[in-house]
Amino acid sequence: MSKRRKIYEGKAKVLFEGPEPGTLVQYFKDDTTAFNAQKHEVIDGKGVLNNRISEYIFTRLEEIGIPTHFIRTLNMREQLIREVEIVPLEVVVRNVAAGSLVKRLGLTSGEPLPRPLVEFYYKDDALGDPLVTEDHISVFNWATPAEVDELMAHALRINDFLTGLFYGVGIRLIDFKLEFGRLWDGENHRLVLADEISPDSCRLWDTKSLEKLDKDRFREDLGGLVDAYQEVARRLGIFNGKNTDGKTGPVLVS
Ligand code: UDP
Repeated sequence: MSKRRKIYEGKAKVLFEGPEPGTLVQYFKDDTTAFNAQKHEVIDGKGVLNNRISEYIFTRLEEIGIPTHFIRTLNMREQLIREVEIVPLEVVVRNVAAGSLVKRLGLTSGEPLPRPLVEFYYKDDALGDPLVTEDHISVFNWATPAEVDELMAHALRINDFLTGLFYGVGIRLIDFKLEFGRLWDGENHRLVLADEISPDSCRLWDTKSLEKLDKDRFREDLGGLVDAYQEVARRLGIFNGKNTDGKTGPVLVS
């Protein structure tokens, strides 16, 4: 890792000061955590794959007009991003019942939902990121009602696009988590997609076999996490499946 000033270190990523004002460098670590970081492991090559997959998805989203913090990839583990003020909410979109929804409402995992469900969680590790309602968000001023409408609209549009993108490569998008930030321009700001979209933040099941190609492989001790992330990258056309340097770890197609 470089000697640039560290701004923030999270569970799976580090943010460094960027080369110009208003920019940051987002570094993808191999650290893998679950259950509010009670389970932790370093999985060789995961950060490289998430950097590439997230770059690919953010670029495709920019192409359809979704504003994001992404500027460009710098190297195998780093992206140049715009500095934003993170909205303290995790926006989860679900198409199929899985994970915490199954536990909370007693549903069957794999049950399709009648329509996409958008949920908000307040970002606070000490509280375990609790589920909150639109009224909590407004009362505690985490975002304005107009911003909540915008978050919802962006989340559903991203869901439609990603559902199709993954379906085209034989993957079902079960659910995923988004984060947004305020990008300031003088007195005004707009909401942009931030953080990452990768198999760490999505549930991705093979359409036919229902094999899990996401972080549930780690949560449920299934093994083969890097192979699964490589498979996602391969299907998206961004991983050639060959190691040319004689070393282990992924080789990515630029
Ligand atoms: N998720 C995430 N970060 C979190 C919580 C959830 O990326 O801190 C993602 C998770 O990978 C899944 C979706 O959001 O794709 C819904 O997660 P869920 O609420 O079911 O929680 P979990 O089962 O992960 O505890």
